[in-house]
Amino acid sequence: MSTPSTTAAPAACWNCSAATSGEQFCPACGKIQPLPRGADYFACFGLPQKLTIDPAELEQKFHSLSWKLHPDNFERAPEAERQLSLECSSQLNDAYRTLRDPVGRVEYLLGLAGMRREGQHKQQAPPELLEEVFELNESLDELRHARQSGGSAGEMAGLEAKLEAAQHRFESSLADVDQELARVSTEWDQTLDASHSPGTNSGGGDAARKKLMERMNEILNRRSYIRNLVNSVRQELPGT
Ligand SMILES: [Zn+2]
Repeated sequence: MSTPSTTAAPAACWNCSAATSGEQFCPACGKIQPLPRGADYFACFGLPQKLTIDPAELEQKFHSLSWKLHPDNFERAPEAERQLSLECSSQLNDAYRTLRDPVGRVEYLLGLAGMRREGQHKQQAPPELLEEVFELNESLDELRHARQSGGSAGEMAGLEAKLEAAQHRFESSLADVDQELARVSTEWDQTLDASHSPGTNSGGGDAARKKLMERMNEILNRRSYIRNLVNSVRQELPGT
């Protein structure tokens, strides 16, 4: 695993050769630029790979960039520039959708480091929830069975109430997990800041970042496990 770099590869403007640093427009002549090699969604917004993002600021940047990159502005431009406006607009939309969600942001950051691949998430019950998961599955089975065999209304209502209580507990576990993710995200940002301040040993920073990524990965696995549980209970309960 490699920790992703925080800056896109430097490039030169195709029109005036001025140095660009991954912005969509040349700072010297203002021409639209191709997406630099290795550009990520953070770079799309000129942001470092930090996990604390002010949603209002992100939205404002998104609107201003979408407006500048809009293909309508390039109707009379040469074909190559029109093509660039389409590519940059589409990447900007994807970047916004991903980064505006705090969890999506973490998923994406870990994905850049090759840590989250579709379908490879561990689906084991978190140890502290094992017992509750076991009970929940039992109640789900009982409810399905009672429905099929025409159980009494009282029996069904009892089982549904039990499941509803379990659902509330899992929803509150989910809220805890989200808080934990927010805490580790803050730690990630602080580590990133520290590794950029002068006089620090970046080797130590790499190890710290890797450790934090592993923690975030584990939290995301737990989160998706609990969310699946909440959804499976929701499907069985009427009116939720
Ligand atoms: Zn230029």
